[in-house]
Amino acid sequence: MTKIFLDTEFTGLHQHTTLISVGLAAENGNVFYAELTDYNKTQADEWIRLNVLPLLSGNLACDAFSDAQPTVLCGGTRQEVSLALRRWLARYGGKNSVEIWADVLAWDWVLFCELFGGAMMLPEQVFYIPFDLSTLLKLKGAGPETIREELGEVRWTHPILNLAKHHALYDALLEKDIFENINKR
Ligand SMILES: [Mg+2]
Repeated sequence: MTKIFLDTEFTGLHQHTTLISVGLAAENGNVFYAELTDYNKTQADEWIRLNVLPLLSGNLACDAFSDAQPTVLCGGTRQEVSLALRRWLARYGGKNSVEIWADVLAWDWVLFCELFGGAMMLPEQVFYIPFDLSTLLKLKGAGPETIREELGEVRWTHPILNLAKHHALYDALLEKDIFENINKR
């Protein structure tokens, strides 16, 4: 099973929230990052306008890509991003070949499932049980509220992405580094 670290940015902590961006960092170093063009802009409050929206590239497209391509970037509607992400996940193999990890994952996981039309419509690669990094931190004695930058760092760079805290791919890459560090303890 390949571990894939997930983060999403979205338009608020409520039931009608919409997905702004999604980042996935696989343990083998492959990454997928997408920005959605059809999120509900009227829901974006001041915090989102200050912390999340400035980091978006805003000009990405969901172009064709190969299974060997380590970095896949995409920008488009929910449907376009969903198709691209399904195609990206197919490289990991068949049924249950991927397990998803996220940090305090309650919102990320629901939005991830909704991108495919709900939990029953997940790509076959995705194992139906997601795993929470914050729970692992608690079990390892690190404290789930520990500032994440104290536990890991993002060394990965990309010429056109604004990688910083609250960028979905940055946050996913930070989860991956923290996971690797915490398991050395
Ligand atoms: Mg984030």
